Amino acid sequence: MKTQISKNFTLEELCHSNTAIAQGIDNIPNSTQIIHLKKLVTNLLQPLRDMWGEPMIIHSGFRSEETNRAVGGVVNSQHKEGKAADVRVNNPRKLQQELINSYLEWDQSILYDDGRNYFLHLSYNEGQNRKQVLFSKGTVATK
Ligand SMILES: [Zn+2]
Repeated sequence: MKTQISKNFTLEELCHSNTAIAQGIDNIPNSTQIIHLKKLVTNLLQPLRDMWGEPMIIHSGFRSEETNRAVGGVVNSQHKEGKAADVRVNNPRKLQQELINSYLEWDQSILYDDGRNYFLHLSYNEGQNRKQVLFSKGTVATK
């Protein structure tokens, strides 16, 4: 039984981690983290998905402290709070542009197109959204 947060996103896919499973790590959000995940989905991911009109695959959503360490995430990662998700689409650069041109609010949008990773990191931090447009090391801003 899956917990549907919105039309296209479930709580389970936002908490799935291959690394956590492989290493036997718990990756279960607490009630506060679940509230953050729901806000991320309803205020950012689902409206963006509706505009985009094509599948958005969650590459990495919530990460427990241990999961974040195992995947090499930064110490203060918003993934640990349930406020961030990395999404895969066929053109993450175009998705970032669509976000910039939209009415939506977001905190950080980080494009990963560096030959190694290919996705868009999106975060939502209610009341404190900075609308930052960032590029991972090795990703050029324009192409
Ligand atoms: Zn991320």
